[in-house]
Amino acid sequence: MARIRLFIDHPLGTGQPVPLDAAQAHYLGGVMRLSPGAVIEVFNGRDGAWSARIASAGKRGGSLDVLEQTAPQRNPPDLWLVFAPIKKARTDFIVEKAAEMGAARILPVQTEFTNSERIRQDRLQAHAVEAAEQCGGTFVPAIADLAPLPRLLDGWDASRRILWADEAMAGPADTLAGLPRGPWAILIGPEGGFSDAERARLRALPFVNRISLGPRILRADTAAVAALALWQAALGDW
Ligand code: SAH
Repeated sequence: MARIRLFIDHPLGTGQPVPLDAAQAHYLGGVMRLSPGAVIEVFNGRDGAWSARIASAGKRGGSLDVLEQTAPQRNPPDLWLVFAPIKKARTDFIVEKAAEMGAARILPVQTEFTNSERIRQDRLQAHAVEAAEQCGGTFVPAIADLAPLPRLLDGWDASRRILWADEAMAGPADTLAGLPRGPWAILIGPEGGFSDAERARLRALPFVNRISLGPRILRADTAAVAALALWQAALGDW
């Protein structure tokens, strides 16, 4: 059985005692049925992975003793995913898959045709943590709060290029091979696509590259995974 992994927002080092909150202690003791003495793997998103022994796990919390480092810290390339949230289950899917695919930061954005006006940032962050726990990752992408697209673009740092997946470009897929390396953000629209005004603004920005994701129109969640794969293969760490 694969070793149980837990994200802990606490410094990690040999001999370091680490407190468990009630939910973590319940997960280890109540759900996974582990007893004191059992060894699990922990990571905090900064210090790699470590083995740790359960010292106690009760109703109100518990603690771990950190043993030794089992894997170095591995951070993804400097790639952000900017996407318009869609229905709850599909938004969860996008966050989970983006964490698995190696997005460094995930930014939900409100576009003209975005249906949802709110997101549960804490819930989405928990999905990113769970994806890292399950995939052996040591990094957890931060999920930003929902921001309107115009405001995001107003404050945009022009040294971060935007790879804009535009459904109006549907056709032979683009190769990203000629594009410069460095900081990037992928932009995926909502089920309704981008408006004419949004399209005009994006086309006028010098740091935006408009791309096709092939001849078929993809749903937003599929488009996000496809764009992440294209970028990772051409400019990332694949
Ligand atoms: N309702 C729109 C489709 C939106 S698809 C229409 O019928 O035209 C949702 C998002 O996925 C799009 O905004 C775009 O970012 C991305 N997307 C889907 N298929 C794509 C393709 N073939 N090329 C580029 N982007 C695509």
